Amino acid sequence: MSSAGKLRRLAAITLAAGAATTVVASGAANAWNGDRTGDVRHAIQGGKARNVILLIGDGMGDSEITIARNYSKGANGRLNMDRLPLTGAYTTYALQKDHPNLPDYVTDSAASGSGWATGHKTYNGAISVTPDGRPQRTILELAKSAGFRTGDVTTAELSDATPAVLAAHVTDRSCQGPADMKACPTNAKENGGAGSIVEQQVQTGADVYLGGGKARWTQTVKAGRFQGRTVIDQAKAAGYDVVTDASGLQAARPGRDGRLLGLFADGNMPQEWTGPGAKVGGTEPSRCAPNAQFSGPHLTQMASKALSVLDDQTRRSRKGFFLQIEGASIDKRDHAADPCGQIGETVEFDKAVKLAMDYARRHPDTLVVTTADHGHTSQIIPLDAKSPGQTATLVTDEGAPMKINYATNPAGESQEHTGTQVRIAAQGPQAANVVGVTNQTDLFGTITRALGVRR
Ligand SMILES: [Zn+2]
Repeated sequence: MSSAGKLRRLAAITLAAGAATTVVASGAANAWNGDRTGDVRHAIQGGKARNVILLIGDGMGDSEITIARNYSKGANGRLNMDRLPLTGAYTTYALQKDHPNLPDYVTDSAASGSGWATGHKTYNGAISVTPDGRPQRTILELAKSAGFRTGDVTTAELSDATPAVLAAHVTDRSCQGPADMKACPTNAKENGGAGSIVEQQVQTGADVYLGGGKARWTQTVKAGRFQGRTVIDQAKAAGYDVVTDASGLQAARPGRDGRLLGLFADGNMPQEWTGPGAKVGGTEPSRCAPNAQFSGPHLTQMASKALSVLDDQTRRSRKGFFLQIEGASIDKRDHAADPCGQIGETVEFDKAVKLAMDYARRHPDTLVVTTADHGHTSQIIPLDAKSPGQTATLVTDEGAPMKINYATNPAGESQEHTGTQVRIAAQGPQAANVVGVTNQTDLFGTITRALGVRR
């Protein structure tokens, strides 16, 4: 069958199967068409927040959001994150390590995360240290010392950059476990440092850590009280219940005085969806499918558990909680030029945004912020564009073809981050501070002001 014939047939199947739920791409049903002045005015709240839920879509630039929206909701549909009432953009640039007075226009997750977690810009690869290596206190550490409960959730390894910047300080993001310290000699335990990222995560002591990366935690501690034992042993001694699968997660009841550590994969957690990889010259029009190899809890199950544990722990307290939830593999599948992988992660992340918004509906003193740490490769291009890069054509749920292009590196190499500004959207106390164009370091100020904590 010709490519166009295949496309028509796929579109017909899609429309027949999805007729009841398909969003029709007309302008009629858009709730935002009217005068929104009242809604926006109503959404502006100052004061303190009891709870803060920060959701980071790693590599989730405007293009990644639009691709996921087109595919799953339709061009005129809306994702949950689109319904947050106050929206702005923020700049993400890092600093050059050897010339910290000059910008590095394309950040990685470590530098950008250090920026929003500590309020200080730094170089690519840094985990909450300044360009000269000085640790800076993070939102999570400040919240914890002020009496808030804290949680850190990701689909990547827990020691990966975004979850790491909240609870560790090392000079290079590769220093994830005690056996990985080659790039951070001054941070190593055996040299008198605070240890690897996972050792520091235990020492920082967030109430809830959920994610992948178990292989870092089974490494052996090289010095100090836990020398010769694993980081998991160290975590158990610090009061963590350790769970490793979805049923363990569901059954976990850490209680008011307990802590919860979930390690659901040796490395990154599996991706939600699969489909054709982009390639030079393009693909046949295709649909995405659920990943048959998926195992372990979904991001929404981890987010829901983290919310319920932290809610239980704070029910009778004056202070609430700070929780970070990362959809990490939007970035990882974008690096791999895997459009279905990337869309599936974005759709799952967006469901976690819905959980946070539902929680905030029942607890209006909750600040919910959704943003990204940097933009990424994928672009929606015309069907007849002759990209020199890798492309894939997907047939969306509303039955139209969408061509996605990856061209920041040659085929076979990892696709790259981009230096664009990214979206930030919020609701609740202090949410008005995301409006306009800000910097990722300003998010530190917004959250610390909402929690009433100071550096
Ligand atoms: Zn990346």
